[in-house]
Amino acid sequence: MGFWWRPLSVLASVLFVALILWAASGPVAALGFLAGIQAFVMLRRLWQEFRLARWLENPDEVEPPDASGTWGDIFYRLQKLQRRQKASRSELTSALEQFEHAAQAVPDAMIILNGSEQIEWCNPASRKYMGLDCERDRGQFIRYLMRQAHFLEFLDAEDYARPLISKSPVNREVSLSLQLVPFGDGKKLLVARDITELERVDAMRRDFIANVSHELRTPLTVVGGFVETLADAPELPFSEAHRYYELMLDNTRRMQHLLDDLLTLSRLESADHRLKEELVDMPALSLALKDEAESLSRGRHRVKLELTSDASMEGSLQEIRSALGNLVSNAVRYTPEGGDITLRWSLRDSEAVFSVIDTGEGIAAEHIPRLTERFYRVDRSRSRETGGTGLGLAIVKHVLTRHGARLDVQSAPGKGSTFNAVFPAARLRMPETSARILSFPARGQAV
Ligand code: ADP
Repeated sequence: MGFWWRPLSVLASVLFVALILWAASGPVAALGFLAGIQAFVMLRRLWQEFRLARWLENPDEVEPPDASGTWGDIFYRLQKLQRRQKASRSELTSALEQFEHAAQAVPDAMIILNGSEQIEWCNPASRKYMGLDCERDRGQFIRYLMRQAHFLEFLDAEDYARPLISKSPVNREVSLSLQLVPFGDGKKLLVARDITELERVDAMRRDFIANVSHELRTPLTVVGGFVETLADAPELPFSEAHRYYELMLDNTRRMQHLLDDLLTLSRLESADHRLKEELVDMPALSLALKDEAESLSRGRHRVKLELTSDASMEGSLQEIRSALGNLVSNAVRYTPEGGDITLRWSLRDSEAVFSVIDTGEGIAAEHIPRLTERFYRVDRSRSRETGGTGLGLAIVKHVLTRHGARLDVQSAPGKGSTFNAVFPAARLRMPETSARILSFPARGQAV
């Protein structure tokens, strides 16, 4: 009713005045009055229509018309409508801009294809992985740009659940997982994700399982063979049977060592295995490691300890003991009888270094960068003969990395080796601050 009351009341007033005029001066005066009013209304309407047309032509730049009465009401309502449209237009623009920014930031390549498989839009990652230039290639048929047979088959198959694993056409080192997602009216979104790292991890996992199986198969075959022999020949002389039992025990121990090392590695790698921070008395640990070297060597080597610092260290005693114990055990195992093994705890350029130096067989330069890989051995049979699992240095590397430390290896064939565990200064604690000194667990205790 808000809109109607004003025109109706004006009309009623005009009619009322016309009636009075009719009564007072006759019909001519009344009709003349009505004609005058009519002319005025028409002219006013024309003027307002002109203003309205001018404003509608360019509503953002021309001031909205201002009027009273019915026209004012109409202008006000139109203005409200225009403001609402403007607000939703700017909302839409900012949503579109946000989408554009998000699509630019997405690390995957994203390409929108229309019903004829022409490129409608793509994000910057499409250049990196697919070699597409969004400006240049807009409107091009994807089939003409990417002609590899397996890709064309993938497009034809329209199997939207199964991705295509393929090498990037731009960089053969990069593996991509391509997926088609249908949407809208016959359109498709082609997404290409870089899965190089996933593939590398998968290959590592496969290698690892193959290596573990291989490592277990040999001792298992040996044990199985002896068990069969003993079962088939119960009358075997005791001395021979005893030798078989010893060999079986050796191989069982080998499997046990392997499983222990595997468990240690898996514990070190598990995300929730947090580093235990405690004060490790390094001079005391060095002495314990020297005892360990002597007991492993059983008098075959000259073992020496050089303590040039009495600093302690913040870290996990069990882990550090296990890592340095592995270096010591390697030195004993790879140094021929009569050789020298030196353990040294020293400070160097604000870092702390635990060195294990031997006069053993040494290692050729090409092997050194790969020593900490799991199951990497320079001399496989020597490692096995001495009870090695091929995991020792992998464990050392893990432990050192967890402590912000590094392994530095210097070696040359026939010239012995030096394995340095280099710890950062931040972990050092000088004697006066070393309040609580820990005792040592027995060797082989799980990390
Ligand atoms: P393993 O159980 O075979 O000793 P590690 O991971 O401890 O495995 O060491 C990997 C390889 O590095 C060994 O197989 C060996 O060839 C070489 N290596 C390690 N320490 C020494 C050393 N002190 N002298 C010579 N070679 C070494």
